[in-house]
Amino acid sequence: MQEPALPAVSILLVDDRAENLLALEASLESLGQRLVRAASGSDALRAVLDEDFAVILMDIRMPDLDGFETMALLKQRERSRDTPIIFLSAYSEQHHILRSYASGAVDYLPKPIDPDALRSKVSVFVTLRQNQLALRAAHAELETRVQARTAELAAANARLVAEVRERETIEQRLFDQANHDGLTRLANRALLMEHLNRAVSRTRRWAKPSFAVLMLDLDRFKLVNDSLGHQVGDQLLRDFAARIERCVREIDTPARVGGDEFAILLDGIDELRDATRTAERIEEAVAKPFVIEGKEIFATTSIGIAMMDDRYKRGEELLRDADVALYRAKEAGRARHQVFDRDLHTAVMAELRLEADLARAADADEFVLHYQPIVATTDARLVGFEALIRWNHPDRGLVGPEEFIALAEASGKIRTLGRWVLDEACRQLAAWNAYDPRLTMSVNLSPHQFGLPELPDDIEQIVRETRVDPTNLALEITESAIMPRVPFAGQTLARLRDLGASISLDDFGIGYSCLSYLHELPVTTLKIDRSFIARIGQPGERPEIVGAIVSLAHTLGIAVTAEGVETAPQLARVRELGCEYAQGFYFARPLEAAAAETFLRGGHRIDAGVG
Ligand code: C2E
Ligand code: CA
Ligand code: CA
Repeated sequence: MQEPALPAVSILLVDDRAENLLALEASLESLGQRLVRAASGSDALRAVLDEDFAVILMDIRMPDLDGFETMALLKQRERSRDTPIIFLSAYSEQHHILRSYASGAVDYLPKPIDPDALRSKVSVFVTLRQNQLALRAAHAELETRVQARTAELAAANARLVAEVRERETIEQRLFDQANHDGLTRLANRALLMEHLNRAVSRTRRWAKPSFAVLMLDLDRFKLVNDSLGHQVGDQLLRDFAARIERCVREIDTPARVGGDEFAILLDGIDELRDATRTAERIEEAVAKPFVIEGKEIFATTSIGIAMMDDRYKRGEELLRDADVALYRAKEAGRARHQVFDRDLHTAVMAELRLEADLARAADADEFVLHYQPIVATTDARLVGFEALIRWNHPDRGLVGPEEFIALAEASGKIRTLGRWVLDEACRQLAAWNAYDPRLTMSVNLSPHQFGLPELPDDIEQIVRETRVDPTNLALEITESAIMPRVPFAGQTLARLRDLGASISLDDFGIGYSCLSYLHELPVTTLKIDRSFIARIGQPGERPEIVGAIVSLAHTLGIAVTAEGVETAPQLARVRELGCEYAQGFYFARPLEAAAAETFLRGGHRIDAGVG
């Protein structure tokens, strides 16, 4: 750093006599400093008001204020208190010198003044003052630099803080992205599992408080998505998520775990009641219509609930069981909640096992058909058989259709199964028609199977391959297969009729019992449900209903079969009511093929029930 030039300083000269002042000036001029004159003590006091002096040279003897008095006043003032004062006096007496020092002067010069002595004394104070000023300047500069540096540091610090904050925001965003669902901003499966597993291990250690898991989805969401578009579907999911969020507390974790599948970890609860109450709140919240793109959309939700207990070791197990409960809620008709319990688990597991077994059953040749005779009521003559499927399960023995037809429908195996039944029944029919060309075979079609677009082609192919006379084939369908889709059903039925097959309406009277559509459909036979027959001879018998059905059928040229005839009086009654045909344990139970064939060859007339 370069040494700065020394600043000029001021020297105050105080004397009442001008010639003395001139003499002082002449002696000090060579110092190159600023010389200020004062002609009296008062002048001196005035001069120090607006200037700092390196030194004051002051005459002692002056009119008005003398040197001592002036000095006393100078010492009282803050600004001039420390300014060194050198007295000048003609008296060379000792007492003056002493008094000068005693009153605070730094030096004393006797008159006449020796210029060299004067210069050398004054220059000491000039240098002192100059150093003082330089020091002060250096101080000031240091201060400015410190301030500048401090400001720089503060700026740098602020930058750093901003950077740290930005990084935190980015990290938070990355964390959010990795742990949240992009559409609904709810937690995703990963975050849910983390919270869930933490809750499991905490609860296993401390027992209380416990927690519950809810699995939920929007009923028929696919329908909304397919018919109103993905945008509406997405908005519905977002709105649904928002409503769920409003039904839970801060400590809970609502999450989206799949397309329209959501899960909630309800933390810090001990009672199942708390979980079901939350489920009810959600059901209520969802019940209000969603308004999306100006359209009102009504939605319902199904909810499965699993409550933590000490058998659970991992979060997934709870999620799985909540899912099982959800599945049950859906099966029970949707728009409801279902709590998981162990029985449910057992039932579902059994069902799942059965489903797996069913997948193998066809290849393993485990299905068989039994045949139940259908007879004419007038003379008990055998007119045909109804083919009824059985499953010869390796562990469980003979399993009835009620236990697995719905399962085959649900798991998409009904077409294969249905084709097997048709093929088997037609083969049998072809064989038996060689013996009795007018014998008929009734084959049941499940509602789902009836809805398959491939059905008519499948039947046509089977009829061709097995070479049966299609007029001997009767296809049995229930009203529930027809009613929800009358125009479509009409077309399918017409095609089946064109193939030559006849159509029987099965279980008639218990479903829609809507007679008005009958004349529009190519139906050949009505099978009156066995619950009506069972009531014959009982207190709740309603013969007029059966009578009305029979007479209506007859006006439309439709024949009537009574199902489930078990007794002679029942047979007598249905004959009396005009039913052409009857079927039931009174004549025969469903028989294995060989037994049915014996039955067939044994004569067309049946006189008594065969076991
Ligand atoms: P369904 O078509 O009403 O068949 C008649 C059912 O009543 C048979 O039960 C039969 O064993 C029973 N039954 C016959 N006579 C009497 C009687 O006098 N008293 C009583 N209490 N019951 C009698 P099954 O064989 O258990 O069949 C049950 C249902 O399963 C059938 O009802 C039918 O809807 C369905 N099903 C049977 N086989 C097939 C098939 O191959 N395909 C389809 N899709 N469904 C089938
Ligand atoms: Ca049937
Ligand atoms: Ca029936």
